[in-house]
Amino acid sequence: MSGDPYRGTDCSEVLLRVFEYIDHEMTTPDCERFKVHLEECGDCLSEYHRDVLLKTIVRRSCGPERAPKALRLQILAQITHVSVDLGEA
Ligand SMILES: [Zn+2]
Repeated sequence: MSGDPYRGTDCSEVLLRVFEYIDHEMTTPDCERFKVHLEECGDCLSEYHRDVLLKTIVRRSCGPERAPKALRLQILAQITHVSVDLGEA
């Protein structure tokens, strides 16, 4: 589809793969694409911040082991509910 202002990076792709970006599991070009998108897209940026925070909490409560997806979602729901102030204005 044409007319995408974010150079072909779709918000849904960012939201889907934001954990890969945080974990540095993507290729450099993908990483760059996401970086550009996050700089331009406030929605994805706040989602990114939320996921970074989520990862920090999960890591703290579960040690080096990766938390199961269900737990992640549970925590994410809590965070979303609390609506953390990430320093935006
Ligand atoms: Zn976006």
